[in-house]
Amino acid sequence: MEAQPLKDLSKLCIHTITTRPWSLEDAIRHYSAAGVAGISVWRQAIEGQDPAEAGRHIREAGLSVVSLVRGGFYPAREKKDRRKAIDENLRIIDEAAALQAPHVVLVCGAVPGQPLAESRKQIREGIEATLPHCAETGVKLAIEPLHPMYADSRSAINTLAQANDLAEAIDSPLVGVAVDVYHLWWDPDLEQQIRRCGRMKKILAFHICDWKTPTEDLLYDRGLMGEGCIPIRQIRGWVEASGFSGFNEVEIFSTLRWTQNQDQWLQEIIRAYREAS
Ligand code: ZN
Repeated sequence: MEAQPLKDLSKLCIHTITTRPWSLEDAIRHYSAAGVAGISVWRQAIEGQDPAEAGRHIREAGLSVVSLVRGGFYPAREKKDRRKAIDENLRIIDEAAALQAPHVVLVCGAVPGQPLAESRKQIREGIEATLPHCAETGVKLAIEPLHPMYADSRSAINTLAQANDLAEAIDSPLVGVAVDVYHLWWDPDLEQQIRRCGRMKKILAFHICDWKTPTEDLLYDRGLMGEGCIPIRQIRGWVEASGFSGFNEVEIFSTLRWTQNQDQWLQEIIRAYREAS
């Protein structure tokens, strides 16, 4: 018998994108059988399905719906396109409500060539335009700062300080922040900004994976916890010391891993979660 106590899985959540080859049904079945406690649902995983039905199915399997991923992408040069983005986000909020996901993760968006400050202004306007709908449905929005390598086209919110500033300026209990170690580990102000986020009671989510050296693809080469250089435990310690007690969400986009046997991949994730996060 093993004498060493194993970290339990009661806070382990996996993003469906992490096991992208699996349908939502496969993911639910395998996660549940493996003892995973939560699932963050990517919109692609429920495309063409009834989100309320999907949510029921998830809960019946004993899993918590942790978040719906993802909304955002508010900035655009033309006003009509910004309006379209707002309408799309209203639909996403409805999906989250039907799924009974407590929040939507926001990849806020950016437009190549448009000043980042202008994009940030449009992001704030976009979020504020959907707040009445958040209030009606009870769905929160989690601003996720993205690593600056994505500042051209994916997000003009690139540090936790910027996400905190935005959440503070919007000043709504429905708007918080998602802390993702992949995007933020390098930031010298990280500990301080996590504390600030905690003081504002704005930490809605904590995402984990690792940063590989070399990183061979800007989007699809994230590492498994322990494979890279991110001090995940230290950052988790800061997040927990700031009052966060929610799920640790494994979010790994990896072309390499998606070509592997997903059953084995899931077992590796669980081992790494226990040993390196
Ligand atoms: Zn994330």
